[in-house]
Amino acid sequence: MSQLFRHLPAMDHILGVLTDDLDIASLPRPLIKEHAGAFLDICREEIRSGVITDQEHLALDILKPRLLAYVRAKSRPHFRRVLNATGVVVHTNLGRSLLAKTAIEAVVEACGHYSNCEFDLATGLRGSRYSHVEKILCDITGAEAALVVNNNAAAVFIMLETLAKGKEVIVSRGQLVEIGGSFRIPDVMTKSGAVLHEVGATNRAHVHDYENAINDETGALMRVHTSNFRVVGFTKEVTLQEMRALGDRYNLPVIEDLGSGTLYALEGEGLLGEPTVQQTVAQGADVVSFSGDKVLGGPQAGIIVGRKEYIDRIKKNPINRAMRIDKMTLAALEATLRLYLDMGEARKKVPTLKMITASQESLKSKARRLGDGLRSELGDLAQVSMRKGFSRVGGGAFPEYDLPGTMVTLHVEGLSAEALRTALLETNPPLVARIEDDLLVLDPRTLAQNELKLAASALGQAVTALNRKEMS
Ligand SMILES: *Cc1c(COP(=O)(O)O)cnc(C)c1O
Repeated sequence: MSQLFRHLPAMDHILGVLTDDLDIASLPRPLIKEHAGAFLDICREEIRSGVITDQEHLALDILKPRLLAYVRAKSRPHFRRVLNATGVVVHTNLGRSLLAKTAIEAVVEACGHYSNCEFDLATGLRGSRYSHVEKILCDITGAEAALVVNNNAAAVFIMLETLAKGKEVIVSRGQLVEIGGSFRIPDVMTKSGAVLHEVGATNRAHVHDYENAINDETGALMRVHTSNFRVVGFTKEVTLQEMRALGDRYNLPVIEDLGSGTLYALEGEGLLGEPTVQQTVAQGADVVSFSGDKVLGGPQAGIIVGRKEYIDRIKKNPINRAMRIDKMTLAALEATLRLYLDMGEARKKVPTLKMITASQESLKSKARRLGDGLRSELGDLAQVSMRKGFSRVGGGAFPEYDLPGTMVTLHVEGLSAEALRTALLETNPPLVARIEDDLLVLDPRTLAQNELKLAASALGQAVTALNRKEMS
């Protein structure tokens, strides 16, 4: 065994092989050295444990493919693109919305050049970073004023901190939601300094519940979109119009956290029950907040629109500075909003909307192409078939709606669906899929046309990797 150690390739030779590879050669030198050292350690361990028993296996020519694959895999950036075959369009773990082409271009322009980010080109003086999106937000939503912060969680916090700190905010018990990532309305409210005053029962709240709760300490009335759940059956919530009337009678602001929020009326697409931001403004909410990267399909942002007197107060809150969005977000948001000036354009060009509203034919044709790709990649190894199934909007929007579509299912002889799904997380790019009835299910809705080949190749890689493991 100790003889074998002497046959390990020299570090210099290993580095020579690595720097001959164009991709690897462009990496920082110290990183290449570190990975080369780690690779040698693995070889040493394999000698010790008896995996390598022959000096021929230590020849650099023999080790080379493994060495290159090892260093390539180790040196990939941590933040990576993945293929989303889950069919969840706004998938928070996978980065939520994809930006429209014009929004991507706007980001590239904004971050590669100086800009009028906070500079007023009309006067040559300091300008406001919000000026770029305030007018267009007002034009689209019909609100008097608008403000953008880092995300909707920040928006909810700053609305409450500004308008209701030290005061009571009345909320229905049926709307005290927890969304993912431990964002809970009661907790956010406590942190903002507002005091939660719960009314109603879990399933029902009436106008008189709110009215009875109003007292000298009341600072605002609030409605929260229940997001990822629905109370069904014997239920009642107070409408925004009723709340508006109450707010007028007692001179209290009405705050609405719309959660996802949509500017595009999805009712026409058969998705009912989510009011648009425009409707919410028209029905009299004083301040409305929603996410930029949920159904809107833009960058991560929390958008607040509403009455000027309230928005002005929020703008002046010193905390606003800590929630300020950066120039890339601004550029992407303005470009995305511009698409909404023509709703038909928005539907065609905002990827999130396009995926939500994809036609049955287009989904079927994508499924067919994906199936063909898988068959040519895997041959007789796999049984590939198509079946009807459902996708999801995600992001807490339309939780009770299944979006019908065509799925591709896959069974590979001798491999469990779970093993396949796990192996797919290590392909390049990784692919995220789901399992139903012990079958691997790929939903083409969230794969772009030009990703169908990549998805098939990922399965090829996964099956090869699993079969190799089986043999060793
Ligand atoms: C998603 C959501 C939030 C948080 O929005 P982020 O943009 O993720 O910060 C807040 N309230 C509701 C009701 C939501 O659905």
